[in-house]
Amino acid sequence: MPEGDTIHKIANFLAPCLDQQTVVDLRLADTTTARKCIGRCVRDVSARGKHLFIEFDNGLALRSHLGMHGSWHRYPAGSDWQRPLTQLSVALVTDGWEYVCFNAREVEIVRIPSVRERIVHGRLGPDLIADRVDPQMLARRAREFVEADELLADALLDQRVACGIGNVYKSEILFIERYAPGTRMAELTNADLGRCFATAAGLLRRNLGGGRRVTRFEADDAGSLWVYGRTDLPCLQCDTPIKSQRLGRHHRGTYWCPSCQASPIEASDDPNTGRHT
Ligand SMILES: [Zn+2]
Repeated sequence: MPEGDTIHKIANFLAPCLDQQTVVDLRLADTTTARKCIGRCVRDVSARGKHLFIEFDNGLALRSHLGMHGSWHRYPAGSDWQRPLTQLSVALVTDGWEYVCFNAREVEIVRIPSVRERIVHGRLGPDLIADRVDPQMLARRAREFVEADELLADALLDQRVACGIGNVYKSEILFIERYAPGTRMAELTNADLGRCFATAAGLLRRNLGGGRRVTRFEADDAGSLWVYGRTDLPCLQCDTPIKSQRLGRHHRGTYWCPSCQASPIEASDDPNTGRHT
């Protein structure tokens, strides 16, 4: 599943490939706007949270969001693609290469100033990888966008608060910071919230190199993640079986250790309602 670090890796890969390359063809559902970018030069490739921006020298940029199932591929011009045309979201063709995005959640051409405007107007929070992280400011943004009776898990995923944390990191951060999955915003101080986002920024940055996603850096081969995807397997800290459940605003899969992440009040058996049983 693409998360903020994945998009930065893609940007880091694409930037030197596409730098100053002329767009020979751009295949996109919105053909009228796409035509405006053909013949233009790529000026910059950057990631902003889960959004990838390919900027052209005419003040326009191709913005893509991979969602749950999207991916970018690069092919030598004229070679076969690994996925069918029906899954095509956009193809950017340069002299010799085809950069193809399949199954994106969103693809559009945007005016570059409007991209900046969106960020300034708070549709996207600061990028935890690219920007200097100010924990107090992130805590305030979390209060602004997430209600007191909502879950910390939702604040971590809310890209208006900060960009980059996806569903894998959400569970991992809750484990590392020892919060039960049912922890509500009202139970946390701003310092607690700031610490969670600082931990997230550290993990995202450590994962910028190649290879698999790692949140557990122990020198053994017991696993690179603490809890995500480990339902019923023993906790790598205490051997208690890991639990999982869909919860929060978007009913996203959440994994936790019921003994390492006991709620500060008492363990909750039902993180969806927060009811203590
Ligand atoms: Zn445990």
